[in-house]
Amino acid sequence: MNPELLLSRIRVVLCRPSHPGNIGAAARAMKTMGLSDLYLVEPKRFPDPEADVRATGAVDLLQRAAVVASLDEALAGCLFAVAMSARQRDLGPPVGQPRESVAQLLAEAAEGPVALVFGNETVGLSNEEVCRCQAAVCIPTDPAFSSLNLGSAVQLLCYECRMTAFAGTPPLARQGVTPFTSPTATADEVEGFFTHLEGVMTATGFFNPLQPGRLLPKLRRLFGRARLERDEVNILRGILAATQQTTRHGRKD
Ligand code: SAH
Repeated sequence: MNPELLLSRIRVVLCRPSHPGNIGAAARAMKTMGLSDLYLVEPKRFPDPEADVRATGAVDLLQRAAVVASLDEALAGCLFAVAMSARQRDLGPPVGQPRESVAQLLAEAAEGPVALVFGNETVGLSNEEVCRCQAAVCIPTDPAFSSLNLGSAVQLLCYECRMTAFAGTPPLARQGVTPFTSPTATADEVEGFFTHLEGVMTATGFFNPLQPGRLLPKLRRLFGRARLERDEVNILRGILAATQQTTRHGRKD
């Protein structure tokens, strides 16, 4: 299925967020990864200028965000929901790793809307909220410090969603420049260069064909590692030709 369509079916639900800045950060995190459906369950302050500031270019997601009174409302129509929690719950759904759970989430998204559910900054998700979900995810952290900032947790999961939706290789953002490329030099072009190099090394006295030692195979190994391009062979041969000119005619300066 089309990766963008899959991503558009993932709701990000923030339960009772206290800080509008985190709502803005979550919107930005979502937009960078191609998600757009934000649900806010009883946000403490929203709309709020701080949310807009932290969202920067993702204010459109905030404008379209659904503000609802309960998690049940946010999950209406969803086929599958994943609770995000650093803590294991008694009687909660099975806890998985982000990557494996996101694979399941996207498989479900092929059928219809799904949700990632995040908790409040101070108290996290309640047991009741976790039990409304069919799976739980704990982001592996240093066990001594396991609580991520809400916006960071949203970013990490949205990234995993994007990676999985695009089968591990999402297209990179266009950089505005086309990188220079030159075809790989062919065997005969490389041989032409080696012959030229050997000639110049001999003419300058650097290489004595009567006592060749291991110089030539070592140079072959060096240039073999470089996987020379045609353009590079031309540059190297240009340098050799200029050296020949100088050795024939003497320096002009
Ligand atoms: N102090 C709270 C955590 C608040 S962080 C607690 O102990 O539960 C805000 C939200 O970010 C959490 O409710 C959770 O949805 C998400 N989150 C933060 N760290 C996480 C982690 N290591 N694994 C999964 N979710 C995490």
